[in-house]
Amino acid sequence: MKNLPFIIIILLTISCQSKLEKKLKSTKKITIVAHRGASGYLPEHTIASKAVAHAMNADYIEQDIVLSKDDIPIVIHDILLDDVTNVSEKYPNRKREDGKYYVIDFTFEELKTLEVTERFDSKTGLQIYPTRFPKGTSSFRLHSLQDEIELIQGLNKSSGKDIGIYPEIKKPKFHNENGKDISKIVLDILTKYGYSTKDDQCILQCFDAQELERIRNELKSKLFLVQLMEFPEQNNLLAFYASYADGIGPWYKHLISSKTTSGFSFTSLVEEAHKLDLVVHPYTFREDSLDDFDSFKQMIDVIIHQAGADGGFTDFPDKMKEILEIKL
Ligand code: CA
Repeated sequence: MKNLPFIIIILLTISCQSKLEKKLKSTKKITIVAHRGASGYLPEHTIASKAVAHAMNADYIEQDIVLSKDDIPIVIHDILLDDVTNVSEKYPNRKREDGKYYVIDFTFEELKTLEVTERFDSKTGLQIYPTRFPKGTSSFRLHSLQDEIELIQGLNKSSGKDIGIYPEIKKPKFHNENGKDISKIVLDILTKYGYSTKDDQCILQCFDAQELERIRNELKSKLFLVQLMEFPEQNNLLAFYASYADGIGPWYKHLISSKTTSGFSFTSLVEEAHKLDLVVHPYTFREDSLDDFDSFKQMIDVIIHQAGADGGFTDFPDKMKEILEIKL
């Protein structure tokens, strides 16, 4: 066994490498995206929820974008106003034949007269997350993408931070049917505010693959692009997504294949995305909507540390940050 010392050295080297790899893996920078702002604490997409998300040091703050009648990009989750405003009281005669109120039917000036509140079920009037900010209290308004960028850039200046924006183009086909090119309008505003390359602290996202591909190839955007994914069948389209996008935003459930008493097992989504150099930012980490998880800590541990996601969207950026820091 005169080779024994060499064998020991080789084994030690392998062991050190694997420890180093583990360390590198555990110290990977995880991206925390404040989903609709700090929406676990304040009504989603309000300026207040964005300011709180900034104070919590999220890496990015999300904006969902829908156009007004006069082509102003409004920060709101849906093309409808019904579930987050008092539109049915304020403008009872402005609903469409389907009984719903559309952002696109109102000017920005009109939209600013609405009260925004914690998300509720417009049929029952009950708020969706009962333990969150009380519906119908305090006073919040809708605002434009420009208002929000100026808030975040202003806070970056006054605090010395460099927190990014993470805008989502909502329903491009619906906008197109209503004669509006939402992507072009949003891209022009982003450029005006200094967001035009992958180094500019801006990630642009969209569920519509055709539109995101158009943003890259036809509108020639050089921004960091994330393809949002809704259905598990889309896991087979990663190579196409990688032809124009830099990352994917899947529902976190599509990272998990099963849960047993011994733990979780995972689909190949993250591994395949990483092979294609796509970052993976799943949605949505909510402390008050845990599904199959025992705790928020377990949810984050499973999706980030076990499944290997690179970050994600959360309504509770402070709590996600705290859990990730403990792990490190
Ligand atoms: Ca969104």
